[in-house]
Amino acid sequence: MSSINELYKRSIFDHNRNPRNFRAMEDASHSCEGYNPLCGDKVHIYIRLDDSDMVEDVSFTGSGCAIFKASASFMTGAIRGKTQDQAKETVTKFLDMVAGSSDPEPEDTSLGKLSIFQGVREFPSRVKCATLAWHALTCAMDKVASGEANNGTATPAKDESEPERNVVSTE
Ligand code: ZN
Repeated sequence: MSSINELYKRSIFDHNRNPRNFRAMEDASHSCEGYNPLCGDKVHIYIRLDDSDMVEDVSFTGSGCAIFKASASFMTGAIRGKTQDQAKETVTKFLDMVAGSSDPEPEDTSLGKLSIFQGVREFPSRVKCATLAWHALTCAMDKVASGEANNGTATPAKDESEPERNVVSTE
């Protein structure tokens, strides 16, 4: 067994048992839910952006398999402190890597520990488990982009009268 798969299994095990940032966020600025019908994984992603569009806090709740939970746990650690643009770039790289459409360049260390999720490629039926939280994150951030004026000033007309329930499905 290659070392990356060994590391993959150990990390999944660890993060499943002890997921990081596994909590609801009271003061989240944006959130989105996700569902993977193939496995039954459910996730609710919460993010809070600061004034400079940086991910100040990110957390998740949900239930599902070990791969889903570990991937969501890793994700929260990977995007905290990033700007929205940087976070989106990380999402794209992660999804490309897991899908196998691109191998991370050996000198590209931007994915860091996330590169262990290459291991999921050996289990194609679990890819959606590994990507669910990432799709939900994109959903949450897209809501930010469309709900805020680009000039950075809050729009008083922003209609937040009813709590939106964004739901993304991997199907
Ligand atoms: Zn799953």
